[in-house]
Amino acid sequence: MLAKTEQIWMDGKLIPWGDANVHILTHTLHYGVGVFEGIRYYDCGIQGSAVFRLKEHMRRFSDGCKVLSLKQPYSSQELIEACLTLIRANKLKEGYIRPLAFISEGPNAGLWAYENPVRVAILTWGWETYLGKEGVNHGIRAKISSLTRHHRNIAMTNSKVCGQYFNSVLAKQESKVSGFDEAIMLDPEGFVAEGTGENIFLVRDGVVKTPPLGSIIPGITRDTVITLLSEQGISVKEEQIARHQLYIADEVFLTGTAAEITPVREVDMRTIGNGTPGPITKRIQQKYSDLVRGKIEERKDWLTFTDK
Ligand code: PMP
Repeated sequence: MLAKTEQIWMDGKLIPWGDANVHILTHTLHYGVGVFEGIRYYDCGIQGSAVFRLKEHMRRFSDGCKVLSLKQPYSSQELIEACLTLIRANKLKEGYIRPLAFISEGPNAGLWAYENPVRVAILTWGWETYLGKEGVNHGIRAKISSLTRHHRNIAMTNSKVCGQYFNSVLAKQESKVSGFDEAIMLDPEGFVAEGTGENIFLVRDGVVKTPPLGSIIPGITRDTVITLLSEQGISVKEEQIARHQLYIADEVFLTGTAAEITPVREVDMRTIGNGTPGPITKRIQQKYSDLVRGKIEERKDWLTFTDK
């Protein structure tokens, strides 16, 4: 259930949640050309709250706007400040932040909306575990989707483009109505790409693998996990993965800002390992949890404290 907050940042100012509305001719509503982000901030105890890797999220947001030629009017620094202002105004200690750049209504209702203004809104709400507490603690059941991930020359697969997510929504829908928790998407060549809103890792015989960047979202959690593992002397192989490699893996886990580190205990009715979260998954879950809550001194550079 969505935990609403009082204020939303829209077009440079804070407004009440209920007033953050758009016109029905909003271009993005019709054609999907917009960019969004998903960011989390955590309660770091006496240190206050901190946003995790805010700069990197805002960089991906700006990159996505550039990829779509969306000329949004704010600098990354202004958007970073806007996120912090929003968190302070809503007085939440932990939550999720959703920046969204979209093409507004304007002189053009057709496809080329070059004169329509680009607007930016930033929302925050409280969001506990994305794939459920049970999933985080014991692992989720996943299904390979019958829907293929976009080809990288059909969509801008490395950017968080609003319209592109219909592919993820359909896959998610299919997995849920089939009794699974999440879908794993294959790319057009049939290799494992990612979850509907997460990247994916597998472990077999102590070797960790993840699909290469190419047609997937360059996950900030994915990058964090690769860094944390390499600091522990475990290098991650970024290589193409066939679906059967998931079936015979010792461990599989998903990574994402919303999903954090979620173990996968079953893929297509095959039990992964012994059906419980494996040692590398558990270790990385713990490290990630410590990291985002400001318990790892050397990695404080990834945190933006909201009170400073
Ligand atoms: N893949 C997809 C399709 C996503 O939507 C997300 C969520 N942004 C990710 C991967 C993970 O990215 P991140 O770790 O930056 O949240």
